[in-house]
Amino acid sequence: MPQLSSLESALKHYFGYDSFRPGQQYIVEQALQNRDLLVVMPTGGGKSLCFQLPALLKKGLTVVVSPLIALMQDQVQALQDNGIGATFINSSLSGYQVRSREQAILNSKVKLLYIAPERLLSEKFLPLLDLVHHQIGIAAFAIDEAHCVSEWGHDFRPEYRQLKQLRHRFSGVPTIALTATATDRVRQDIIQQLGLIQASIHIASFNRQNLFYEVQPKQKQSYQQLLQLIRQQSGSGIIYCLSRRRVDEIAFKLKNDGIAALPYHAGLSDRDRFDNQTSFIRDDVQVMVATIAFGMGINKPDVRFVIHYDLPRNLESYYQESGRAGRDGEPARCTLFLNYGDIKTIEYLISQKPNPQEQRIAKQQLRQVIDYAEGTDCRRTIQLAYFGERFIGECDNCDNCCYPKPTQDWTIEAMKFLSCVARCQERFGMSYIIDVLRGAKNQKILQNGHHNLSTYGIGKDRSVDDWRILGRSLLHQGLLAQTTDGYSVLKLNTFSWEVMRRQRSVFVAMTATPQPTTEPQD
Ligand code: ADP
Ligand code: ZN
Repeated sequence: MPQLSSLESALKHYFGYDSFRPGQQYIVEQALQNRDLLVVMPTGGGKSLCFQLPALLKKGLTVVVSPLIALMQDQVQALQDNGIGATFINSSLSGYQVRSREQAILNSKVKLLYIAPERLLSEKFLPLLDLVHHQIGIAAFAIDEAHCVSEWGHDFRPEYRQLKQLRHRFSGVPTIALTATATDRVRQDIIQQLGLIQASIHIASFNRQNLFYEVQPKQKQSYQQLLQLIRQQSGSGIIYCLSRRRVDEIAFKLKNDGIAALPYHAGLSDRDRFDNQTSFIRDDVQVMVATIAFGMGINKPDVRFVIHYDLPRNLESYYQESGRAGRDGEPARCTLFLNYGDIKTIEYLISQKPNPQEQRIAKQQLRQVIDYAEGTDCRRTIQLAYFGERFIGECDNCDNCCYPKPTQDWTIEAMKFLSCVARCQERFGMSYIIDVLRGAKNQKILQNGHHNLSTYGIGKDRSVDDWRILGRSLLHQGLLAQTTDGYSVLKLNTFSWEVMRRQRSVFVAMTATPQPTTEPQD
């Protein structure tokens, strides 16, 4: 297995994650050095880990100030589920519960205590904290939603102002302040109002400016397409595939075609994996063909290209895996091959999952990957939106920005499609609607009597794939909606009705023209 840094091992051990997100590792290191910190990260970016991991690695209790009881309970629950000693004290507890939790703290059973500011600063609670300070030590104060301290923020809470007292009472205990939204003004306020000392400030963005993102429809001759792409690149690259078999096959073919390539997957012996990885890092070979097992803990800053030959599992993995390119800040290229056969295979695999909740999550994740791959907006806008970061397009460093796709007028088809959704009373998913449009004679349609609808069979002139491209494009463009509970039932919105009334035209980008591969899927 690849060598992990000790922090990465701890991350894996406590939280099960393979790698840090941007900024996290550095912040954790600073926290371990007892620095005062201000962390600004988009919502969903992974702020909690920045104080949770240090809390687990340091001696003593970390006190987490959080304004919302619901938020507190969720986080504590999640930590406890991971077997981590965390608890909260708030007004929802009885006197008895509070006392028993306080006792657990004094018995060093708790690493993270979540508490609301007014309770923390109450004359009833501070003496307990004094005791903790002297007996077991306070590792840090983590102030979540730190913008609440500022009148310039959107959620001012006067109690937060009082937190500065902690600095005097518990001098020497570092403070880490975290927020998602902070203008310069709010930032200054946080530092002043909380009395941070020589704070180390981190404003994390997930934007990797030096990476060029592109999506290529996978062609029939997908291996030739890959080979050509690799020949156009200089420097090292990683090719990610979903299965071990495919990794072996592609590595073998590339070698035959004169590209120095090695495979990497969990089916190889430790020894082979180690050797292959070392050859790659030392530039003895140009290309590593790998499953997702490769990358964890690998630090090769000058990877110039990452190609996803198969669809990634979800956008988070895509971001992490493609992000292994260009760590040195120099330009690098991230290419994703999009294949409709892949989507169908993954859909099938999902349908085989026994747990319906898992199925729903997996479907939603697949949906997000498809949205990214088919989207005609700036790729960065789509990726960063996933991490809660707003990026207003035109990055000039993705295929959609550099080569906007030609579009075709599909208004008539869109009207047919949407009317069919309406006739079926907005109770079905895309495949069903397409079946009705194409006049399929399946059982479900006959049972529902939908073969009698006026829209039945009016779309015979177009292929299933064409209709699917249109349907997805309508969703991307917001001209049609879809339930997000995993059932993906199509719903009309006001824009859909405008299209049906001919008040709005529909243009569809022509990238997504499907070219099914002849290769077997595995
Ligand atoms: P924030 O507090 O910044 O809004 P959270 O700390 O709640 O965000 O994290 C958002 C999500 O990201 C959580 O589901 C968390 O489990 C996940 N997450 C955080 N760090 C990582 C990581 N290094 N790898 C994978 N997932 C992560
Ligand atoms: Zn762009």
